[in-house]
Amino acid sequence: MSLKHFATVEQMIAELAPGYPVYCLRPKELERNAKLFLDTFPGRVLYAVKCNPELNVLNALYKAGIRHFDTASLNEIALIRENFPLADCYFMHPVKSRSAISAAKDVYSVDHFVIDHEDELDKIVDAIGGGDGKVCLVRVITPPANAAYNLSQKFGATVEEAPALLNRVAREGFQPGLAFHVGSQCRSPEAFSAAIRIMGQVVDKSDVHIHYLDVGGGFPVEYVDDAPPPLKDFVDAITSTLREINLRGDCVLMCEPGRGMVASGSSLVVQVMLRKDSSVYINDGVYHSLSETLTAGVRLPMRVIRPCKQVSSDLTPFAIFGPTCDSTDRIPGEIMLPSCIREGDWIEIGQAGAYSNAMTSRFNGFIAETFVNIDEAPLMPTK
Ligand SMILES: *Cc1c(COP(=O)(O)O)cnc(C)c1O
Repeated sequence: MSLKHFATVEQMIAELAPGYPVYCLRPKELERNAKLFLDTFPGRVLYAVKCNPELNVLNALYKAGIRHFDTASLNEIALIRENFPLADCYFMHPVKSRSAISAAKDVYSVDHFVIDHEDELDKIVDAIGGGDGKVCLVRVITPPANAAYNLSQKFGATVEEAPALLNRVAREGFQPGLAFHVGSQCRSPEAFSAAIRIMGQVVDKSDVHIHYLDVGGGFPVEYVDDAPPPLKDFVDAITSTLREINLRGDCVLMCEPGRGMVASGSSLVVQVMLRKDSSVYINDGVYHSLSETLTAGVRLPMRVIRPCKQVSSDLTPFAIFGPTCDSTDRIPGEIMLPSCIREGDWIEIGQAGAYSNAMTSRFNGFIAETFVNIDEAPLMPTK
């Protein structure tokens, strides 16, 4: 069933007067983002499902031509295979249960895996009985970049360990490949160049020719006071650095954007439950859709909506609290909002498509689960 659809967010509010949080999807923006990656990136574009697994988001990306999905769990693999039987899943988590590996192959025909340790390779060989032409990528640690999250603290083989792992992957009959992730919301194209040079060193020290090079996700988006370079600068850095290294033959290039593909594809509409002086209490917060304001320090654009009424343009700083009883349920910092803001007003929060509904808990019984489609352009940070 397709989602209820409105021309503008203001019309949605006028009609529903929602006292619950509403995700306002922008399917055209999602398609535009997907096409930008497909047109700009000179290789295979995988969407990282964990970033926003909502089926209506996946549908928009699929419609735009995305056919490859980076999946981290059996549930994500099932979600993709059951809804898009023609799409490919790549099991990109370096630590998998044996039963998940077997089911990925036997039930869902997955044939791309990632490892960062020889014991994980043993598990895959045990579970699926050797490479048999399937693909196994070795995830390699890369240096810290200017990113909101470092994704090399938990996973990755070192440059010293990776060549031997790669050799063994090939000996077990897999097509060998390398993968890395420079960190999420990475603002520096140079971080991709530095990582690719490291992959060059790994290949030099190994005995194999890699068939796949996966440059991961991390492509940044605009937040308040955070205006990173455009996608093209990252792709230029990747392609020019690839010319410096010796891959010893044909190699499929892959990327796995999450945030860069979907952040602008949804906003979140919340309602003000109470105003007390310079504190505002809203119906979503850091235990629900807005956790990244705390964990990654992202600052999301906001606008106050009071249907058919003027909201003053005189801004003052407010503390914004989420709905739970926990005092840490607060969006960090002071946020500039119209001084006249009051109970019953709505706030549209933009750039809320990445790691929002995907991260929401059921803490205190508050659940955000309403999605609508909106035609108007997304709410972006003002420059
Ligand atoms: C999280 C993740 C991604 C997506 O990262 P973004 O920063 O959202 O682009 C891609 N690949 C892997 C392996 C990941 O863990």
